[in-house]
Amino acid sequence: MKTLLLTGIISLYSLAIFSQDYQKIHNKAILVDTHNDFLTQTMEKNFIFDTDLKGKTHSDLNRMKEGGVDVQFFSVWSDGEQIDPYAFANRQIDSLDAVIKRNSDKIVKVANSIELLKAVKNRKIAALVGVEGGHQFENDLGKLKALYNRGVRYITLTWNNSTPWATSASDETNPDGAKNSEGKKGLTAFGKEVVQKMNSLGMLVDISHVGEQTFYDVIATTTKPVIASHSSVYALCPHKRNLKDDQIKAIAKNDGVIQINFNSGFIDPTVDKRESAFLDKHKSEIDSLMQAGVNPFFAQESIYIKYADESQQLRAPFELVIQHIEYVINLVGVDYVGIGSDFDGIFLPPKQLDDVTNYPLITKALVEKGYSEKDIDKILGGNLLRVLKANE
Ligand SMILES: [Zn+2]
Repeated sequence: MKTLLLTGIISLYSLAIFSQDYQKIHNKAILVDTHNDFLTQTMEKNFIFDTDLKGKTHSDLNRMKEGGVDVQFFSVWSDGEQIDPYAFANRQIDSLDAVIKRNSDKIVKVANSIELLKAVKNRKIAALVGVEGGHQFENDLGKLKALYNRGVRYITLTWNNSTPWATSASDETNPDGAKNSEGKKGLTAFGKEVVQKMNSLGMLVDISHVGEQTFYDVIATTTKPVIASHSSVYALCPHKRNLKDDQIKAIAKNDGVIQINFNSGFIDPTVDKRESAFLDKHKSEIDSLMQAGVNPFFAQESIYIKYADESQQLRAPFELVIQHIEYVINLVGVDYVGIGSDFDGIFLPPKQLDDVTNYPLITKALVEKGYSEKDIDKILGGNLLRVLKANE
């Protein structure tokens, strides 16, 4: 009995030490998330980032701080269907700037890695903007430069749909999918100019969402390391917008980085089928919302919320996020992987990763797997910071 009690005390003690250790490592590391869609959410629903949005969104300012986020790339999305995608992007940046103005003690916009490190030192979230979709600068390199001046530090060349100058993963894998303006897959001559312009400005080229031909055209064109701001591993989950082994190797060779996306459907191969069945079951309600003029994304989202008991069952096990991170490490090494959650752009984060307060669970899992603090620092943000510096 005495020995049992002693063993109990010792294991409780080591548990406490362990939990202190991973929290300490998490707090000390620079945590960078390269993809959060809150700004687009704000546009449609008028959510205010610096209020308590628990239960409504995956993120708000205070929860982001609670989760230990040091650097956040805020995504500014467009599918090109808006009347003026450039103005649409600028309005999203305006709303971020307003949050920053009201909360200068907590968050600051940074233009480069020096300002970023200063912000982190001052315990403020360093905010940068990522433009997702490529439509926002309206084929005008002057507007691209103007977006750079507003803090945009990466452009995801396509979204699910293509731009006239770059084909997306969705379109390239669909026999009826759109071709570029030269009638082919991949980058056009102007698309290559876009990559070169981004290289010269010090803007990261983001290959998430792009088709394989576009991907390899980018790799052949860029003179700087690229990022995948929110992509996972095709070998573990064969989704058309995940990265195949050869692509992961090409990114490592380019000294770029793959930021793992949390979306259940991108990390767990069983989700797609179950999710389709769920959406089919509620199709008539989704259709009637869309007929009433609701945007398809929000029509679907309302069904996930309305039938939460069913939709929550679709979430992937947490462990799969770690498996995707480890897959990249085992394939090309620890220097080429990071985190691009896609929070507030996805309906189904994995179990346990309910919102931005749960990032420490990733650090905990990596500590449990035996990764060194040095390697964990790289995964949580060091790798992305290396790529950012190399682009400046
Ligand atoms: Zn996306």
